[in-house]
Amino acid sequence: MMIVMKESASEEDVEAVIEKIEQAGAIPHRIKGARLNVIGAIGDVEQDVSVESLGLEGQPGVDRVMPILKPYKLASLEMTHGQRSVLDIDGRKVGGESFALIAGPCTVESREQTLQTAHAVKEAGATLLRGGAYKPRTSPYSFQGLGQEGLRLLAEAKSETGLPIVTELMDISDVDAVLEVADVVQIGARNMQNYPLLAEIGRSGRPALLKRGLSSTLDELLMAAEYILKEGNASVMLCERGIRTFESAYRFTLDLMAVPVLKELTHLPVIVDPSHAAGRRDLVTPLSLAAAAVGADGIIVEVHPEPEAAICDGPQQLRTEDFEDYARAVERAAALAGKALAGREPAVA
Ligand code: PEP
Ligand code: MN
Repeated sequence: MMIVMKESASEEDVEAVIEKIEQAGAIPHRIKGARLNVIGAIGDVEQDVSVESLGLEGQPGVDRVMPILKPYKLASLEMTHGQRSVLDIDGRKVGGESFALIAGPCTVESREQTLQTAHAVKEAGATLLRGGAYKPRTSPYSFQGLGQEGLRLLAEAKSETGLPIVTELMDISDVDAVLEVADVVQIGARNMQNYPLLAEIGRSGRPALLKRGLSSTLDELLMAAEYILKEGNASVMLCERGIRTFESAYRFTLDLMAVPVLKELTHLPVIVDPSHAAGRRDLVTPLSLAAAAVGADGIIVEVHPEPEAAICDGPQQLRTEDFEDYARAVERAAALAGKALAGREPAVA
């Protein structure tokens, strides 16, 4: 924490600030300039937090109080001294040089649709199978997902293909049912700041895919991840899925700059969801290639055997018959960033 004193601050004002910093257990360092005094409060993160709660902003002679450390601790790259986290999902690596291709339907609709999609994405080299059993829908009148029956179908798809399952948890009351099936628990964009839900996933220890809120900053996303990490669960991947901006020509703005910037800030793997950002199938491939080339650790993409008949998000879902070509193109783009699909040889970019 840095405390910048006003030019008009008296010696007593400076002394009073120094005393408060000492009381908080931090070490004050006074820097005396020609006109101003700046006091650095050096301690560990806890002390930084306790200095923050001293209310120094209101103290006589104080101009500004500026934190030095990031507000998130466990999520920061500083915490691991630059070492990046590589998650292990049932033997599949996510992060480092392993690119995760997470694919599957928006929502589990039927046994045939789920198994057909699972086999198609598995054949093409997908790493994990996605599919929603509990769906966060904008309208309460829209299909809300098959619930427990959907989870059962995902379990069947896993036992047929061996693909680990990514599925969303929306409500704490469904946690036990979801944990029966989910290898990765998805926290949807609308629940990014549902702190009790985040803490519950933290306590469960199950890997989590945390989506960025529709209008959330990267700091807010990282603070949300901190809620999971704080409970002792280190297996968190972040997901950029498009944010709201003033642009109305497309559904959301896929913030691809978030990928390299998050990588400066955090050791956690970063996944991109081009499907929900675009809302349109024709944009999904170019956005996926860009995401892979910019250094994302994976993509989560929607695929359906018959998108025209899909109950939910049909216009954005890739066709199962096109998925093989899509996967090969993504693989080549990932190779540009030095990554290969988990379990496959690196592609020639
Ligand atoms: C989803 O992935 O199924 C979904 C609803 O995404 P989001 O939470 O990003 O809208
Ligand atoms: Mn969807």
